Amino acid sequence: MSECIVIGGGLIGLSTALHLRWLGASVRVLERARIGDGTSTRASGWISAHLRTPNELLSVVLASLEYFPELIARLDDDCAFGRCGSLVVLDSDAQLEQRRLLDIEQRNVAGYGGATFLDRRQVRDIVPGIADHITAGAYFAGDAQVDPGRLVRALHRVATGAGVIVHEGADVSTIRRDGADWKLETTIGAFTAETLVNAAGAWAGTVAEQVGFDLPIVPIAGQLLVSVPVPRITEPCVIYQPDPRFGNRFACGVRQAQDGRLWLGTTYRPGSYDTAITAEDTRTILTGAATIFPALSGVEVERAWAGVRPVPADLVPVYGAVPGLDRFYAAVPVAGLAECAIAGKAMADIVLRGSPAPMLEACSPGRFAAS
Ligand SMILES: Cc1cc2nc3c(=O)[nH]c(=O)nc-3n(C[C@H](O)[C@H](O)[C@H](O)COP(=O)(O)OP(=O)(O)OC[C@H]3O[C@@H](n4cnc5c(N)ncnc54)[C@H](O)[C@@H]3O)c2cc1C
Repeated sequence: MSECIVIGGGLIGLSTALHLRWLGASVRVLERARIGDGTSTRASGWISAHLRTPNELLSVVLASLEYFPELIARLDDDCAFGRCGSLVVLDSDAQLEQRRLLDIEQRNVAGYGGATFLDRRQVRDIVPGIADHITAGAYFAGDAQVDPGRLVRALHRVATGAGVIVHEGADVSTIRRDGADWKLETTIGAFTAETLVNAAGAWAGTVAEQVGFDLPIVPIAGQLLVSVPVPRITEPCVIYQPDPRFGNRFACGVRQAQDGRLWLGTTYRPGSYDTAITAEDTRTILTGAATIFPALSGVEVERAWAGVRPVPADLVPVYGAVPGLDRFYAAVPVAGLAECAIAGKAMADIVLRGSPAPMLEACSPGRFAAS
């Protein structure tokens, strides 16, 4: 019998499985497709606190940013991890004011030192090629980047090397109680476990339904483009959000990876699981990138993809025990790449030691239990 089964082989499931194993548990991962095929290999590569809502999400990302170097050092690849910083670029007094207000709120979250506000000249000291209309910026040196695909593959390799058993093509269709255990029916057969962790990302709500728990996870599909390598235009990840109310469903992000490729994104399709690449989203992303870096007009695109973000309905990550279900846990992020390091460590502590870190108390799935 396997002691602990993790449903979902994305960043959150793999990190949880690895940390459980490091603490001595027997662990099995059931992934219905191939490892990383859900959303985790489709992320943009930002590990950003700067951009996060000033709630538990920001606390979790800060803790993850701190723990990431230690985790990476235990993997067999550095996954192109680097502390590159991030820069929000602004082109109106209204945007600057709004950013300052957000920064005040973010500073209330323990451990967040806040952004450094830059004037027109200071922005150009960091990104000389920025467009003329950009008049100010908010810079946060603590943010980082990592290659999402390499991180998924490294977690997978190190987890299996440490003894985690991973099954691909194992779609969990039924979960029921079998005495003191959980019994799962999957496309590759039945499994029994004492402990279950639902790390099924955008599909975690469907998995929770199988045990009668209402876990409100909103799918938000979105598209990303990757260019061919180009001469360096930026060290920090750069973001520009012309409509702060998000009515245009687009946040223009430019991350230049260590190999010179630009990761350009991203669009937001709320309520959608559709991972089609659309000409409209491609146009939106390319136009946005050239709006802040004119030199990117006509940049050659090498790859494009879309993925589905899992977003808990209240924009707070979900980590903890599901109330009323013995040894059944849920782990669903808001910014899963940024959160995955600490999420796995914290979930292993919750599962094996029983107590969530104080930072995670408000992340309990219990908040969604019917009163
Ligand atoms: C375009 C884009 C850019 C993004 N950029 C960033 C970024 O820069 N930084 C950041 O922090 N986040 C980013 N994200 C979000 C991030 O990618 C996700 O939060 C993260 O990948 C979620 O990880 P996960 O492990 O929870 O889910 P997933 O990676 O989706 O893993 C869940 C797995 O569960 C499997 N599964 C589902 N149902 C079942 C079942 N019944 N049985 C078995 N297996 C099942 C799925 O196949 C899937 O592989 C981005 C997302 C998108 C779409």
